[in-house]
Amino acid sequence: MTDAVPGAKPSADAAKPARPAGPPPSKPIPTPTDANRPFFAGCAEGVLRLRRCLECGRHHAPTRAACDCGSVAFEWVQVAGRGTVFSHTVVHRAPDPAFRADLPYVIAIVEFDEGGRLMSNLVNCAPDAVRVGMPVKAVFETVAEGVGVVKFEPA
Ligand SMILES: [Zn+2]
Repeated sequence: MTDAVPGAKPSADAAKPARPAGPPPSKPIPTPTDANRPFFAGCAEGVLRLRRCLECGRHHAPTRAACDCGSVAFEWVQVAGRGTVFSHTVVHRAPDPAFRADLPYVIAIVEFDEGGRLMSNLVNCAPDAVRVGMPVKAVFETVAEGVGVVKFEPA
């Protein structure tokens, strides 16, 4: 039974699907591959691992296929997980319903003290307090068996 007036155009709110009761939807979980498994396993262990170029020594996030020097030879190294905000943005509209409860949230590119950059969430910080150059440190969250993610917070 509905109380809508016959022939009346439904309001915008009425057109939206009802939000289901119960817990919010789950966030996507990374699926490690041979190319990034040490990174995600390290995050589950509470340590940050980056790849270091065997030719020039630069550090890279596991998303890089090749170093700036052209080399594709890397080794995994543990880094301190400290760096600074290189760039950031504040998300006000969730790309997925699972992220609605976090709004507004910050996505930052962090430049590590050892070199190399990684993009993730900046947490435990008001979005309007984030500044380029702000010191940050890694915090970890285990999201599945042997799979963790890294986020950052003010240092
Ligand atoms: Zn290199």
